[in-house]
Amino acid sequence: MTDLTRLTAAETAARIKSGEVTAVEVTEAHLARINAVDEKVNAFLHVDRQGALEAARAVDAKRAAGEKLGPLAGVPLALKDIFTTEGVPTTVGSKILEGWIPPYDATLTKRLKAADVVILGKTNMDEFAMGSSTENSAYGPTGNPWDLTRIPGGSGGGSSAALASFQAPLAIGTDTGGSIRQPAAVTATVGVKPTYGAVSRYGMVAFSSSLDQGGPCARTVLDAALLHEVIAGHDPLDSTSIDAPVPPVVEAARSGDVRGMRVGVVREFSGEGYQAGVMQRFEESVELLRELGAEVVELSCPSFTKALAAYYLIAPSECSSNLARFDAMRYGLRVGDDGTHSAEEVTALTREAGFGDEVKRRIMLGTYALSSGYYDAYYGSAQKVRTLITRDFERAFGEVDVIVSPTTPTTAFPIGERADDPMAMYLADLCTIPSNLAGNSAMSLPCGLAPEDGLPVGLQIIAPAMADERLYRVGSAVEAALQARWGHPLLEEAPSL
Ligand code: GLN
Repeated sequence: MTDLTRLTAAETAARIKSGEVTAVEVTEAHLARINAVDEKVNAFLHVDRQGALEAARAVDAKRAAGEKLGPLAGVPLALKDIFTTEGVPTTVGSKILEGWIPPYDATLTKRLKAADVVILGKTNMDEFAMGSSTENSAYGPTGNPWDLTRIPGGSGGGSSAALASFQAPLAIGTDTGGSIRQPAAVTATVGVKPTYGAVSRYGMVAFSSSLDQGGPCARTVLDAALLHEVIAGHDPLDSTSIDAPVPPVVEAARSGDVRGMRVGVVREFSGEGYQAGVMQRFEESVELLRELGAEVVELSCPSFTKALAAYYLIAPSECSSNLARFDAMRYGLRVGDDGTHSAEEVTALTREAGFGDEVKRRIMLGTYALSSGYYDAYYGSAQKVRTLITRDFERAFGEVDVIVSPTTPTTAFPIGERADDPMAMYLADLCTIPSNLAGNSAMSLPCGLAPEDGLPVGLQIIAPAMADERLYRVGSAVEAALQARWGHPLLEEAPSL
């Protein structure tokens, strides 16, 4: 019998639809896989066995009754623990929300349920999505299934590790500065940050509201597209939600034709700090695109060199305001509520105990950058840089249809290596951050293993806002060509646990 955990989401959905397998069998296979490996991986913070099996039974009943099934009906999914789930714990990887049971579903959660997707549980993440390694989780780090002593990326390391260890064929991430794409790159999975506003933020715990964006994670480009179509779309509950049709991402993923497309290579995405094997695989991918009929154009986007600095002013500024709601009165943890402390003291004691070091660092940085004497010098300047970056993209997209780059400068680093060095950690998002600042769409997909360490390398594809379908068109072309050349790096050289 085929191992049901090795199938793609598209194959799984087709088999359930045809009656070859039941949704319950598929869910049980994944729950058994979680039982067998997640003690080592630590991808899940909470496994909702009962909820998953109930959802699967409902799919089987619908099918038996001849009702119409959604395109991903019965397919299991790992949900980043940043989206609220009614009746199921949501911690955002933080002690401050330990034990909190949300009374409502995020719009994304609702959409998944409406599409008959089976939610297996909630995945580990850096606290409040601040980090690039999942080491900032209050619940312990997640291991990279390729090498458990290395990081699975962050902040969505639980979601990427769940995919790469075959605990789920689909996952959800959020990307404020790279937290979907960087974890995808270091685990040989596919992750997409849609155009800002494409996926509702209602019920997604806020980190930096002008940058945060939920998106699909999967093991293939087509699976990511199928999930993209389920979660994207206008939501009146999110004032920044785009009120326009979802781009034809599934159609584009199925076409995969790049002939005549113009592909930009940006000079600023290379140089010092980039691992040789990462650059080698990236350059091979560019060559491949040329062979497939694309025209490659070299470009310069000078403002990109300032993106990291601008991001580390804007994101902490917004987080310092967003995290003010965790005041010990409304949700989760409450420390010092014994009648001897004032309300202010309870808030202070709760924050002291409930927030981790990185979260505190960012709140302090952001509060400082927004303070009246420094506002113009820091926050104001960062916003100007943001405009320059957007203009660089506009100019570039006047010349090319998509831009490609390595997703990350290096492959997965060892757990602990950068934990005490925030600056080194921040560098992991060098290539991903410009797209968050500008709000356009971007994807990471596997483009091979670095020769020097045998670890996955990600290719980033960047498209203009509202042109997300281009990511899927180029992504599926590259995926098919690479697969023909050396097999799928994950599906065939699956790491054994
Ligand atoms: N690593 C970046 C940070 O720490 C991005 C995180 C994210 O995208 N959520 O802020």
